[in-house]
Amino acid sequence: MSAGDLLSDRLRDRGFRVTMQRRAVFDAVVALGHGTPESILRKAQEVDATLNLSTVYRNLEVLEDIDLVRHAHLGHGSPTYHVAHEHRHLHLVCSVCNSIVEVPVETADSLVELLADRHQFAVDIDHFAIQGRCAQCR
Ligand SMILES: [Zn+2]
Ligand SMILES: [Zn+2]
Ligand SMILES: [Zn+2]
Repeated sequence: MSAGDLLSDRLRDRGFRVTMQRRAVFDAVVALGHGTPESILRKAQEVDATLNLSTVYRNLEVLEDIDLVRHAHLGHGSPTYHVAHEHRHLHLVCSVCNSIVEVPVETADSLVELLADRHQFAVDIDHFAIQGRCAQCR
């Protein structure tokens, strides 16, 4: 199934209209892999020049509501949006070369369980990136 089919099926299932703006924004996230609203805007404007930053944010919100995209905070700036994979992932961000490595969310299972057991805290573990230095930069 292509990304476009997934988008229109999911939108209709959840009672949203399929609009050119939503398609342009979703396609931009797919193309970029990880994109800030600013970079998504630049990419999506290639197909729909009427988009602006606030329409991009509004459409990202809809796409996030229907679980097609998720956001994470990879650094100090705007959040980064990515396609919601079937398997959630953690982001390892290198503070030297800014590379992003995705690892399965289960990598942090022991920490998640520890925090739940000892502190009754349910962690949203993939909401923020883990900062450090990558294998090349160490
Ligand atoms: Zn957030
Ligand atoms: Zn991601
Ligand atoms: Zn690095």
